[in-house]
Amino acid sequence: MAKKKETKLDFGSKWDYSAAPESAGHAEIKKEYGLYINGKFVKAEGGKKFASTSPSSEKHIAYFAEASNKDVDKAVKAARKAYNEVWGPMAPKERAKYIFRIARLMQERAREFAVLESIDGGKPIRESRDVDVPIAANHFFYYAGWADKLEYAFPGKTAKPVGVSGQIIPWNFPLLMAAWKIAPALACGNTVVLKPAETTPLTAMKLAELIHDSGLPAGVVNIVTGAGATGAAIVNHPDVDKVAFTGSTGVGKIIQKAIAGTNKTATLELGGKAANIIFDDAPTDQAVEGIINGIFFNQGHVCCAGSRLFVQENVKDIVIKKLKDRLSTLIVGDPMDKNTDVGAINSKEQLATINKYLKIGVEEGAEIYQPNCTLPKKGNWCKPTLFLEASQSHRIVQEEIFGPVLTVQTFRTIDEVIDKANNTPFGLSAGVWTDKGSKIFNLTTKLRAGIVWANTFNKFDPTSPFGGYKESGYGREGGLQGLSAYVKLN
Ligand code: NDP
Repeated sequence: MAKKKETKLDFGSKWDYSAAPESAGHAEIKKEYGLYINGKFVKAEGGKKFASTSPSSEKHIAYFAEASNKDVDKAVKAARKAYNEVWGPMAPKERAKYIFRIARLMQERAREFAVLESIDGGKPIRESRDVDVPIAANHFFYYAGWADKLEYAFPGKTAKPVGVSGQIIPWNFPLLMAAWKIAPALACGNTVVLKPAETTPLTAMKLAELIHDSGLPAGVVNIVTGAGATGAAIVNHPDVDKVAFTGSTGVGKIIQKAIAGTNKTATLELGGKAANIIFDDAPTDQAVEGIINGIFFNQGHVCCAGSRLFVQENVKDIVIKKLKDRLSTLIVGDPMDKNTDVGAINSKEQLATINKYLKIGVEEGAEIYQPNCTLPKKGNWCKPTLFLEASQSHRIVQEEIFGPVLTVQTFRTIDEVIDKANNTPFGLSAGVWTDKGSKIFNLTTKLRAGIVWANTFNKFDPTSPFGGYKESGYGREGGLQGLSAYVKLN
């Protein structure tokens, strides 16, 4: 048989995309944001504040108040009062109307939220516009629907709210994580004190403005900005009933220790190191597209990112060739350009962490591959990276890098790949690419991961539970299961 002529995708040398920048003129950014406590925007104790900077342009964005222990105490007191006097006693169907209104307002201001999310966090506007903001609004819609139906969620039981919920979120999906936390808490009748990450407070404060405009009674949602110390003040406050945390496994362990021996309940959504497994019977092009999306979406700053690829040995060459080709077409650059596939790394610290792992990977003997793309001069950038010939003992395979870096390993049999996929301290998500339903069911029962996607990846929906095993944490967010963390059942 005549050898098929090799084709290569090389768009760059033939034609280029024209810039397609999203306008930012419609999005209002204040010079300074206060804390949102008891329905008012207030300064932090002693006027302490910190600055937020764009990770792509390195331009100053705004100042944000830095909440002290006293400020957190005020926020918790406001939440307790609102819980006792307003939100707790309110008829569930009335609560639902407020949550529904928040969802509608978010839809109306979707463009503004998307633009601000990309400016503050560095993610491509296509993602904030098509993923973060619509799914955030959908969470409020979805949980608004549950607010007056809790007896159907927990048949035969009476569901009572837990009380005041302290919620701490990371910087990778700032608005979406806030929605994941606030919507189910409110639907179950709880009140909230939420802290966004230090590097991405902008959309959380915009959300505070939106919540204010929705007429939600004062104190039901309080949003306090600050660094890790502000988060710790929430966790350690004696009048917080439940801690909901999304972030690193390291901080998750600190929180676990801090609440041990108290009556506080917790859900911990921590790190991950997902296996993405491609069998020889998978539709290769579709799988390659899914693998690319699985790791390079949001610059790989995704807890459930498919960061470990397992390729069945007999299709290794073709899969790697297609991956390299696809990598060379990814557009890395300005998050506000609608053509951009990979935006800016969220912070200088995170870029340093990723670069540290790139060095470690090379030293460990894996073969590094990066496409020949030019990176903008200003800002935090990392080329999408493959590590070929990676092995199970490599640190780049075992540890969470949280950046656009994919390790590639091979396997021969199903048992081998199950062993390898499960050989990690994490257990958040996994992906399987195959033509055979039986293989999918075999793997979904044996992979120790909270979510297993089949022939797709990174699909999020408010109706589906999300959460992990092992060092990826415990508890579920989303779906019916996401309600159970916010109720006491009798
Ligand atoms: P961190 O754990 O460092 O921070 C998460 C949040 O906790 C931030 O708001 C942070 O504040 C705050 N914080 C820091 N120290 C403390 C403390 N001692 N007590 C209470 N709060 C504290 O994680 P990153 O922000 O770096 O996020 C990346 C990590 O989050 C990755 O490991 C990723 O896998 C995980 N993640 C997990 C998800 C999941 O659903 N399982 C989803 C998204 C991310 P500040 O930022 O101001 O320091």
